[in-house]
Amino acid sequence: MLLLLAMLACTGGSAPAGPPVVALVTVDTWRLDHLSAAHSPHLWALAEQGTRFTDAWSPVGLTTAAHATMLTGAQPWEHGARANNHHGYALIDGPPRIHERLGLRAGAFVSAFPAGPEGGLDRGFERFSGPESGERPGAVAVAEALAWLPADASAFVWVHVYEPHGPYEGVGATDVARYGEEVRRADAALAPLLDALVARGGRIVVAADHGEVLTEEGCGYQHARSSHEAVLHVPLFTWPRLDGQAVIDDRVTLADVPTLLEGRRPAARPVVVGESGECDPGCAPGCAPSGVQGRDTVGRDGAGLVRRRPGVGRTEEGHPSEAVRAAVDAVPPVPLPGATNTAEAKALGYLE
Ligand SMILES: [Zn+2]
Repeated sequence: MLLLLAMLACTGGSAPAGPPVVALVTVDTWRLDHLSAAHSPHLWALAEQGTRFTDAWSPVGLTTAAHATMLTGAQPWEHGARANNHHGYALIDGPPRIHERLGLRAGAFVSAFPAGPEGGLDRGFERFSGPESGERPGAVAVAEALAWLPADASAFVWVHVYEPHGPYEGVGATDVARYGEEVRRADAALAPLLDALVARGGRIVVAADHGEVLTEEGCGYQHARSSHEAVLHVPLFTWPRLDGQAVIDDRVTLADVPTLLEGRRPAARPVVVGESGECDPGCAPGCAPSGVQGRDTVGRDGAGLVRRRPGVGRTEEGHPSEAVRAAVDAVPPVPLPGATNTAEAKALGYLE
């Protein structure tokens, strides 16, 4: 703890308005090609001062599962939240969350139901705030986070914004244009938070939980049913700069986020395993729907990514043993109350 605070003090901004903080900022449904000066100018400016990871991968295009991975460093088949909370999945109690490892006061301010407490993401936070249903503007989460940040203590804060997630709102003539507007809206909402965090000093990690298919596949504008690179290859950067490097090309995953929040450089991963959410063969060729969301897993072949299927043992580096996976697969998902579950799934566009 003392070591951490000493480390944070050394990385402080020019005029800190309080003790340094550790922050995780997640932008839902944010494509890698929309981390740019044109699409997300405030986030891009911070990324240019920090270290960008150009080969970062999400394990799955689902909000609860990907955020559970970022908080624990575990993969979906290890932490139990293999799909969204409204699919009936939740993060198991076992893995320590990053804020518990840091030992700091912790607050979380999320902007949509799938990032909410029903997925078990709230453990260890002294304050956890989010909408009871659907979504809310990112500016609301930002304002709450700024009001909560203790002026006299170091803290861990997680802020999640949801604007880029469909349905896209805006005046653009196409879905692609309106998606871009939503990304700019999320970026603008985060601007005052980023300014305050930099002023406090400490460490910031910014990531998308997953991206979005826009025009790449014939499945419309979505992420949950795809393992396409547009969904799984995600923006990830840390501030301040790590190892003096503006860009690191090592292959990493969202399971490396806790390591980055601790200020350490993650080891490169020779392979990455992706896991499909709803596994639609029309969107993810080769997947075999089992009728259980998150049960079938698909990655990208080639380029070192691998495809995983039910019943197929895994031998690649970093994979849990077949026995572990069999144990996870044997645990049936615990359904949420049907009315809440169905209503949220429909509200978020996951059910007709
Ligand atoms: Zn998401």
